[in-house]
Amino acid sequence: MLNVRVYSGLFVLFVAILIAVSLRGDAAVQSGKDKPAKQQANEGDSLVRLSAPAGTDADVESTASVFSSASLQNLRLQTDLNWFFGGKSQRGWELYVPLISSLIGTDADVRSGRFALALSRWQQANQLEPDGILDDATLYRIIETFQSRRIKERVPPPEDHLLTAPASDFYHPSRPEELRKVERQTYLAYKRMVRAAIEDPSLGLSVTADGDLALTEKYLKIISAYRSREYQAELRKKSPGSGRAGLAFNSPHFTGRALDIYVGGTPVSTAYFNRAIQVQMPAYRWLVKNAARFGFRPYFYEPWHWEYTPNVSHQSSALSHQ
Ligand SMILES: [Zn+2]
Repeated sequence: MLNVRVYSGLFVLFVAILIAVSLRGDAAVQSGKDKPAKQQANEGDSLVRLSAPAGTDADVESTASVFSSASLQNLRLQTDLNWFFGGKSQRGWELYVPLISSLIGTDADVRSGRFALALSRWQQANQLEPDGILDDATLYRIIETFQSRRIKERVPPPEDHLLTAPASDFYHPSRPEELRKVERQTYLAYKRMVRAAIEDPSLGLSVTADGDLALTEKYLKIISAYRSREYQAELRKKSPGSGRAGLAFNSPHFTGRALDIYVGGTPVSTAYFNRAIQVQMPAYRWLVKNAARFGFRPYFYEPWHWEYTPNVSHQSSALSHQ
């Protein structure tokens, strides 16, 4: 009789833990507002599947608590982590959550155990301690991965590889002809990408009768593409002491394969509050999810800056073997 009571007590405890684990999953699903429900449900399932076959209730409990402690730390680190980039001290990584989520392959909220779980898998694949915590070592590795996908040889293209794009493709339609040059393959890929964005009704882009972006539409228009060394030097003279990468001595814009694309806010301001607005914008979120299909890779620090590197998968796999 006593044994039956003990066993049924243990069973109730086990069921309670399972319910707690699944409720945690539900809470995370509810906190992620703009994500497709189907994908979330699948990720929730995988967490339960991962912990359930482990057997004992102790395993279930420890899997859940390991990642809930990681989640608490991620919640703090996303605003408080101190790190360095571009010779400047930086704080937190919340601006980069859309890119990071895409890299580690999850739509889960940073506060959820599922985000920590996805991060731990990425950490494991990248020879880091798979603790699910996005600390400085993990952040630097993530940034290294993003940076490895960018243009390496910043050399000007032969003149006949450049074309002059129509003024209607530009954020400022009055942009003079000599500042509307783009490397040919980059331009064709950009136009394919814009067509795909137009077909996505969630972006609500204004379109012309021929299915191009309307003159009045600003989102996804080109702000700046090819810049000659001479033009870049002029820009630097106009804003001396500018630390902006856009005015670099060795700019990816020299190749004609870097595009500044309007994603919202002030077009190319690195001010924190401006970038915080940009990374919330549907146009930016769309690029994060889709640009790679068209060969474009982000510069993580500037939400508007995208580089055409269609063969990047080879480059990054080569790097990961080093
Ligand atoms: Zn740029």
